[in-house]
Amino acid sequence: MNIGEKVLSKLKEEIPEIEYNRYIKQLSFDEKKSSSDNAIYYAPNTLIANYIKTKFSEKISHLFEVYSSNKVNVVITLKSKADVSVKAAKNVVDKEKIKHSLLNPSHTFDNFVVGGSNQFAYAAAKSVSEKPGDIYNPLFIYGGVGIGKTHLMQAVGNVLQNQGKNVIYTSVEQFLNDFLRHLRNGNMDRFKDKYRNCDVLLIDDIQFLSNKDSLQEEFFHTFEALKNDKKQIIITSDKHPKQIGGLEERLKSRFEWGLIADIQPPELETKINIIKKKCEINRIKLNNDVINYIATIIENNAREIEGILSKLHAYAKLMNIDINIEFAKNVLKEQQRENRANITIDLIMDIVAKELNVKPSEIKSKSRSRNIVYARRIAIYLCRDLTTNSMPQLAQYFGMKDHTAISHTMKKINELIKNDEDFRTKIEELNNKIKSTS
Ligand code: ADP
Ligand code: MG
Repeated sequence: MNIGEKVLSKLKEEIPEIEYNRYIKQLSFDEKKSSSDNAIYYAPNTLIANYIKTKFSEKISHLFEVYSSNKVNVVITLKSKADVSVKAAKNVVDKEKIKHSLLNPSHTFDNFVVGGSNQFAYAAAKSVSEKPGDIYNPLFIYGGVGIGKTHLMQAVGNVLQNQGKNVIYTSVEQFLNDFLRHLRNGNMDRFKDKYRNCDVLLIDDIQFLSNKDSLQEEFFHTFEALKNDKKQIIITSDKHPKQIGGLEERLKSRFEWGLIADIQPPELETKINIIKKKCEINRIKLNNDVINYIATIIENNAREIEGILSKLHAYAKLMNIDINIEFAKNVLKEQQRENRANITIDLIMDIVAKELNVKPSEIKSKSRSRNIVYARRIAIYLCRDLTTNSMPQLAQYFGMKDHTAISHTMKKINELIKNDEDFRTKIEELNNKIKSTS
């Protein structure tokens, strides 16, 4: 067994067997091309390569360090691209030293599907990429999970970076860590230099700034400096600035200075086109039946699409058959079951309680106070909708007489969802939160 194979066999002990069999097993190690700097593995296609890269390359690299005492670049690539990839990997490593965070190179305008739900945000982003720092500054993009906010923001970043501009892309968390590190090391000047002297600052999921007072202070000054210098700022968030709690008023008002663009969940047609686009990028052939089927079963966001495609592709490859609608249904049914299995009543209770400012024990109590009844109804609705628990099971859990009480609650909530837009948004938000935490 060569070192590359040994590392994979060690990896096998650390990851779920199903993941190993589905993905890692398909890798082959190129002993000849590998060196003390680079470990080169071939994957059968780009999807599997990308999946392994994001999910396992750090682990593989760590195992190499353990078993060869060398810190190597792990390169997961296609046979035809080995030489290019080794070079690219080197570049990435070099660049990483100076760059803050890398933009995903496939997050481009070309790869972005425009539909009714996102055309305004798309047009705004496009304009910003043509005249950065000029017309819409900041550009504030908001909307639910997995609907393309990061993609669009990075598309602008990619255009400007390719023109040689210094683009910083950061999450609030990275910004915070960076801030704390500089603070600890007593070199805040460097921190200020870095963020106030870039050409473009992309800051993702700004809602996480809420209640972090000193970070808000720092961000405020960064913002002012950039804005004064006509440097472009792009911000994403899950909510409109007005709706972000725990955020200083002066920041809120500044976020409204430029342009605020929302993205809605994609319509069916947009979902279909996104799937087609992802197939094209990853060179996967699917017939229209399968594409339509995927579009109808995914949630109202695009985040799952790549996972689904890679799963279908890997299975089909493994079993050496074509992907037809029956096959897709079978594979994805299992996925839906898996998704649901991760969502438990406890998880839902925790999230609902936290979001609505009550205690889980209050939700389960017999209290009739308004906000608790409200939280209880929502919790019941979500438990019924997102878990496999039956109405009698839920009645028992919530201490109700029988299932008719649950069915009554479901009816009430469904009516509210239909007639009250704010309520609908709230439920959708909770839904997304639960799914992204599970
Ligand atoms: P968000 O930041 O809004 O949570 P992302 O930008 O991370 O969502 O998008 C999730 C995934 O869906 C990414 O792979 C992205 O490329 C894809 N996606 C979302 N919207 C679109 C779109 N309109 N066209 C193409 N891909 C999209
Ligand atoms: Mg995002």
